[in-house]
Amino acid sequence: SKGRVVVVGGGFGGAACARALKRAQAGLQVILIDPNAIFTACPFSNEVIAGLRNIDAQQFGHEKVAAEGVTVIGQTVTTIAPEQRSVMTADGVALPYDRLVLSPGIDFHFEALPGYDEAASAKMPHAWKAGAQTLLLRKQLEAMEDGGTVAIAVPANPSRCPPAPYERASLIAHYLKTKKPRSKVLILDAKDNFSQQRLFEKAWKELYGDMIERIGLSQGGRVTSVDPSTKTIVTEFGNYTPDVANVIPPQRAGHIAESAGATDVTGWCPIDPVTFESKLVRNVHVIGDACLGGGIPKSASAAGAQGKACAAAIVSLLAGRTPETPRLTGVCYNIVAPGYGFSLSGNYQPKGDVFAEVEGGATSPVDAPREVRTREATDAERWFRTITADTFG
Ligand code: FAD
Repeated sequence: SKGRVVVVGGGFGGAACARALKRAQAGLQVILIDPNAIFTACPFSNEVIAGLRNIDAQQFGHEKVAAEGVTVIGQTVTTIAPEQRSVMTADGVALPYDRLVLSPGIDFHFEALPGYDEAASAKMPHAWKAGAQTLLLRKQLEAMEDGGTVAIAVPANPSRCPPAPYERASLIAHYLKTKKPRSKVLILDAKDNFSQQRLFEKAWKELYGDMIERIGLSQGGRVTSVDPSTKTIVTEFGNYTPDVANVIPPQRAGHIAESAGATDVTGWCPIDPVTFESKLVRNVHVIGDACLGGGIPKSASAAGAQGKACAAAIVSLLAGRTPETPRLTGVCYNIVAPGYGFSLSGNYQPKGDVFAEVEGGATSPVDAPREVRTREATDAERWFRTITADTFG
């Protein structure tokens, strides 16, 4: 049989989708486009920041995906013409499609944070896309003197991996406790409550005493602007000039989704959760962080599950069959110190225009013995090996 599917973005959603499409139907022509020959994964990048892991352990190529018959193109997609059903890459080549899948991840909503932009990220790294930014934040922590303050500015939801800022705060505290014990971590948060909060707060007390301080939304913790020239963070409550400023800006769908016309006023892409087809652009499907998933948190685990479900739906649509209703599972591990982890798992099904959590999910108990935390830290590493092997080979 024939049919041509173009997938934009070779990260957790896109690579999983391209691979699943080709596996489901060998006769399908599947094209995966991403400018980066090497993908650098965010999960476990907080360990790199804390000096517990090498960046190499985060990096994956697309050779194995290509070996399965997916055509991999190392370009940026610059324009999408939904009427012509074609995408154009930076080198000026136009590629037609029957169905297009977008998995571009996130971009930053710079207008929502005055003072912050690409240039500012060289001084106040976000490290919310892994790679050079991860290493920059690491370098700044290494250069900081004992007694310094590391501030982490956390945006409101929806954003990529809601618990990851708190995992980062924990692992930075671990590094400081070991190497620079008079230092502090200050979390400036645009939220009052956060994912797995009781687990984090208990672990912080137990492991780090009062090293981590968090100022939530109600205490004026929301960051309203920054000044990179003086490394100042301005909140509703007051100004801070930390030694290291990790500013995680508000986010939206990767830029190409917006230029395709697939984003709404939220900056994210509304979809039909059964097929992942855009509500705004026909024959275009959006998966991963870029889509409006509702109750399903933006995670690698969700992106991979969505990629596979979207592939199944596209195969059905191209064959003229009715796609099955997907049931997605996601799990999210947090490591707060070496050998100390906990998790949150959930099942999700379409409800209206988004996903809603259904029964069967679980959170680690708050009062579990230490052996459970050790086991969950090991499980987390196994999860990473499994999902990256599943996605990239
Ligand atoms: P990505 O994986 O970011 O892939 C997007 C790809 O699209 C990129 O390779 C990019 O180059 C490409 N692209 C973008 N625009 C274009 C274009 N115009 N043309 C061609 N290619 C393009 N998730 C978990 O499940 N567990 C965790 O423990 C976890 N920890 C995290 C820790 C941190 C610090 C962070 C920041 C995130 C973490 N996540 C975790 C979240 C996870 O990284 C994301 O949810 C996941 O990567 C989303 O997959 P995606 O396919 O939507 O986007």
